[in-house]
Amino acid sequence: MKRLIFLGPPGAGKGTQAKILSDTYHIPHISTGDILRAAVKEKTSLGQKAQGYMDRGELVPDDLILDLIKERLAQTDASQGWILDGFPRNVSQASFLEKLLTELDLAADDVLNLEVPDEILIERLLARKRKDDNEETIRRRLEIYHKDTVPVISFYSDRNILKVVKGDAPMESVTASLKKVIEQ
Ligand code: ADP
Repeated sequence: MKRLIFLGPPGAGKGTQAKILSDTYHIPHISTGDILRAAVKEKTSLGQKAQGYMDRGELVPDDLILDLIKERLAQTDASQGWILDGFPRNVSQASFLEKLLTELDLAADDVLNLEVPDEILIERLLARKRKDDNEETIRRRLEIYHKDTVPVISFYSDRNILKVVKGDAPMESVTASLKKVIEQ
């Protein structure tokens, strides 16, 4: 049983690594980006509200995300633990999660921060060719990452549960480093 929070900039490789860790530890991979992209594809009301923000590389407003996470963490598979990927993305989401977990009498085991320098992120994102991966939205997403998400790193380092892993390395060695810090 592991409850893991995965932080890192867009393009750090969180999604890939989170899937591997989800298999290794038999815990659901909860990606707010994947949930939102599925909602956009299915044209649900959440999807319709979220799409414009996502296309511009901006954060979707908290009121669309907070209930979604609360409901997802209440599903039965989440009682086995989870890995959160893409949430929390700002300090208010981190405070919300902290409060929610306290109410549920739970705590995250680890917060993993996957570090990758901006130059490498831009290269990787441009190579990926997802719909929201053009140069302008990539720059916007990185700007928003620095403004809104970097403060979340201090939020968790202040609570002494932050573990940092370098993401600028071959995929297998990043996986090995992540497992090592999770198991130490
Ligand atoms: P990336 O890691 O490449 O930025 P994600 O798949 O995590 O991609 O997210 C894609 C988009 O979905 C973001 O740019 C943002 O618009 C939206 N999004 C995902 N998670 C959140 C969140 N926790 N809060 C607000 N918006 C989010």
